Amino acid sequence: MGVHREAKRWYQDNWDPDRTVGAWFELLANSRWGYPGWPTKWFGQGMDRADVRAVREERRNLGALPPPSGIGPSVLAPMLFQHGTEDQMRRFLPAMAWKGETFCQMLSEPEAGSDLAGVTTTAIRDGDEWVINGSKIWTSRASDVDYGMLLARTDPKAPKHRGLTFFLIGRDQPGIDVRPLRTMTGATSFNQVFFDDARIPVDNVIGIPEDGWTITRTFLAFEKNSYNPDAHEGGPFGKVDLGQTCAQLQEREQGRRSAAAQGRGASQLIADLVDEHGHGNDELTRSRRARLLTWRRVMGYTNQRVHASRRKGNPLPGFEGPMSKLTVSKITRGQRDLGLETQGPHGMLADEDAASAQFHHFFLSSPAISIAGGTDEIQRNHLAERILQLPKDPPFDPKSPVADEGA
Ligand SMILES: Cc1cc2nc3c(=O)[nH]c(=O)nc-3n(C[C@H](O)[C@H](O)[C@H](O)COP(=O)(O)OP(=O)(O)OC[C@H]3O[C@@H](n4cnc5c(N)ncnc54)[C@H](O)[C@@H]3O)c2cc1C
Repeated sequence: MGVHREAKRWYQDNWDPDRTVGAWFELLANSRWGYPGWPTKWFGQGMDRADVRAVREERRNLGALPPPSGIGPSVLAPMLFQHGTEDQMRRFLPAMAWKGETFCQMLSEPEAGSDLAGVTTTAIRDGDEWVINGSKIWTSRASDVDYGMLLARTDPKAPKHRGLTFFLIGRDQPGIDVRPLRTMTGATSFNQVFFDDARIPVDNVIGIPEDGWTITRTFLAFEKNSYNPDAHEGGPFGKVDLGQTCAQLQEREQGRRSAAAQGRGASQLIADLVDEHGHGNDELTRSRRARLLTWRRVMGYTNQRVHASRRKGNPLPGFEGPMSKLTVSKITRGQRDLGLETQGPHGMLADEDAASAQFHHFFLSSPAISIAGGTDEIQRNHLAERILQLPKDPPFDPKSPVADEGA
């Protein structure tokens, strides 16, 4: 109750929709009420999940703008708390919390997705810099971010899982060419990124050189967890104009949200379709909606396990990350099927009217969730091998350099 009261008081005293977005984000971080789960040394209060949720609830009740979301605060920040240097935290935490800098992940390559340790993009040391050559693919948001989290091979002769290094690379430089890829929804949120002697200062290595696989595993654990909406504070994901007022940004975000039909929005969309097509009292439909609701509740309990495990001092999500991700995939497929069947033959049409047009977009984008951040098959392998201790996939030779594969 204490946290509720304190948070409510702080937000009541400080929330002002006429403040600029930049000033509000800075105040949120420096007051430690923006990311209260971060460590006390770094703009947080070290709160556990239950207290973080209490703060969010009070902020939501008051209608205050949350701090930025996205992979900066939800993935890079916890990685830096584990593996970053003091200088990196001083540089990148304010950048993501209030200076408007955004990040993307540059891991997958044309020949290395599930088998991420097979990346062949190279990084070669040249004085105080690393020089990068190669290509990354499926890089979401690469066209408008400031930095990429990059996995590159620093020693092609080392065994596959060694000889890798994890970097933060500045995106806006002559050696980087970002080319958009169009998906079947018509959007171009993906890109292929080409590196031609791109440069990274040596200070931007996360962890130690050649130990990039350790960092990648931390990255993947937090990334899986980031598919869970609860991992985000709820503020903007991409670049925003920091000079506008909070009220202006909230108005835009509201418009964007009502046009979107992903995640939580899909439940409402399906409810609208069920009403529109007169299936509100149909027992089968009701039972399927109840099942979807149950899965979401179960996911909520899994999240509580993540938080309990963190409270016990285990910093990385364990089996709960793959479980959450698989559950989100399952819910998305369930929503897709129910929405399609509810509409009957009408579901085959990309109508102009709001609910079915939004559903069509949701339907076309639904396969992505089972692939992004590691496919469902890979999540199941992870659970089978690491948690259930079942026999492993046919083994590769861990001592063999990636350069020898397929030779
Ligand atoms: C919406 C979206 C956003 C993405 N954003 C990014 C991004 O920002 N940055 C980034 O780096 N990447 C991104 N990706 C890429 C994503 O991480 C990869 O697509 C994913 O890891 C799969 O790799 P792949 O496409 O190379 O498929 P492959 O690895 O070639 O897999 C092909 C098929 O084989 C199966 N398979 C592979 N290995 C095994 C195995 N051992 N056991 C059983 N089945 C197996 C897979 O499950 C899959 O069905 C994104 C993808 C999507 C869909």
